[in-house]
Amino acid sequence: LMDRRSSLSGNKIKIGNLTIGEDLLVIAGQCTIDPKNPNYFYETAHAVKEAGANSIRGGVWKPRTNPYSFQGDNKSLDILMEAHRRTGLPVDAEVMDEHQLHLAIEAGVHMLQVGARNALNYSLLRAIGGAVASRPSTVVLLKRSIHMGPLNEFISAAEYIAAFGNPNILLCPRGTSPAIDGYRNHPDESITPLLKEKTWAPVVVDPSHSVGKAAYVPACALAAVAYGADGLCIESHISPSKGIGDDPKQALTPEMLAYTIREARQLWAA
Ligand code: PEP
Ligand code: MN
Repeated sequence: LMDRRSSLSGNKIKIGNLTIGEDLLVIAGQCTIDPKNPNYFYETAHAVKEAGANSIRGGVWKPRTNPYSFQGDNKSLDILMEAHRRTGLPVDAEVMDEHQLHLAIEAGVHMLQVGARNALNYSLLRAIGGAVASRPSTVVLLKRSIHMGPLNEFISAAEYIAAFGNPNILLCPRGTSPAIDGYRNHPDESITPLLKEKTWAPVVVDPSHSVGKAAYVPACALAAVAYGADGLCIESHISPSKGIGDDPKQALTPEMLAYTIREARQLWAA
């Protein structure tokens, strides 16, 4: 593991109009884009912008536990990019293989998400590193593995990408397994200061997958900011019960999101 902390601690990561460190990064939007109901996604995109998010997330391809569940759709990539055009905000989507990686890059996705299931998929990490090497404006949101061991395992995964030359990586704790009873995972926002001590990369916590229930998301988000997080990645849907994927359980309504962002920004600035 190369220690890039000293050489890259001054590295400024820009995402849209935001420079990390100058304001709290909030990536918000649906777990899963529903290609049959694009208007939900456009309404969600406008609503999360209104609520104070500065980046939009939307799952195009989804890693589902059940192989018969909805797996995503290439059409959702167009919907995601249309939401970018309508709001002016940069967009984030998970890529699970090299084909999706190239489609996302071709389309102009601003933030490529490595999901928790692929956080230790070294050939995918290398492919992403290679693909973004000549694109410093493309940022990678690297989730922590569900079964992640020592912190160095997480940091080394980031290094796999950074080794190709683009260090613009956001480390994303998203809860680990086994879960705390009642939560989806074991929330791990408390590793934020440890990561920040050891590496160059900003920490963007995902409270949604950590706790897995909308009612508990705001507290987890605020805890993350109290621990020093540079950003949050929060699932939100204009009408959670109409969502697919994690949204019916996990997505915040735009009102809850606005409350969470307001409180989080106040704490972040304090
Ligand atoms: C997601 O962001 O919707 C997702 C699948 O996250 P994770 O990879 O953390 O489970
Ligand atoms: Mn999800």
